[in-house]
Amino acid sequence: MKLSIVVPCYNEEEVLPETIKRLLELIGCLAAQGKISPDSHAIFVDDGSRDRTWELIETHAASQPHVRGVKLSRNRGHQNALLAGLFHADGDAVISVDADLQDDLEAITEMVDAHLAGMDVVYGVRRQRATDTFFKRLTAESYYRLLARLGVEIVFNHADYRLLSRRAIDALRGYGESNYFLRGIIPQLGFPSATVYYDRAERFAGESKYPLRKMLAFAWQGITSFSAAPLRLITGLGLLISAGSFGISLWALWIKLFSNQAVPGWTSTVVPIYLLGGVQLLCIGIIGEYLAKIYLETKQRPRYFIEKTTGPNEHIDAV
Ligand code: UDP
Ligand code: MG
Repeated sequence: MKLSIVVPCYNEEEVLPETIKRLLELIGCLAAQGKISPDSHAIFVDDGSRDRTWELIETHAASQPHVRGVKLSRNRGHQNALLAGLFHADGDAVISVDADLQDDLEAITEMVDAHLAGMDVVYGVRRQRATDTFFKRLTAESYYRLLARLGVEIVFNHADYRLLSRRAIDALRGYGESNYFLRGIIPQLGFPSATVYYDRAERFAGESKYPLRKMLAFAWQGITSFSAAPLRLITGLGLLISAGSFGISLWALWIKLFSNQAVPGWTSTVVPIYLLGGVQLLCIGIIGEYLAKIYLETKQRPRYFIEKTTGPNEHIDAV
């Protein structure tokens, strides 16, 4: 079995030498045990880095047959870099892992074992989040719960550390959307799957390439790519407020008929104006979000361009 390990890298010059070293050790070890073939390799996808990441990849690729590089023409974000690697890889099984060594590489051995036992998808799941900040832990775990409640099928506490078989990757190509939210798509493939647990470490070096802004955008992607629940929420809200206004009208009528304080108060006039205005804006906003999504999807824009690779077949590849 030929194994490809895909590593998206964005400004990772500080960790890259160590990551390459450890992955090579692991590949050597697995090949020596006969679990993977000797032409197994790691593919480093440079996601338009501004530092020396690509130079490092190229130098290592020149001297190491187990190292390959793919350079995207510009920064396209983690998910697209990952996809570029997955679609470029030619292994019988492909494992994706972050460059920062936060995910314990030992789990790769277990993933390979599970694949050899017939699994098409093997999820790497964090056993605990002791190294994450309280804020990150709280937001991430609540987010996974929210997605589950919205009906999105996801694996709790699983990020993008996983093994996919050739079959699963071919199936993945069938998803034509521009916004790939891999964590939601993979469980939908439905092939035999297994889970391996690992402890998440601190970043080996450098700092997170996922600032809060990117994180929020990614979270919103996950919801709007997979769930129409916010749209339904609007319907529910509309119904609720209409029923409420109907109740208020009845109440006003009752005051008019059965009391002498018929002058409606300021509150009952002004509050609904603001309330309804607010609700309408909110609803238009949410509809707009989905409209924007349809707009982007109908354009069918390519997700990334490969500028160059360290392999023999250098060509511009857009997927
Ligand atoms: N990454 C990428 N493109 C980006 C941002 C991040 O390829 O625009 C890569 C990054 O190099 C790393 C992985 O995605 O290999 C995860 O990023 P990071 O570790 O910074 O995220 P965190 O673990 O802090 O959520
Ligand atoms: Mg990380």
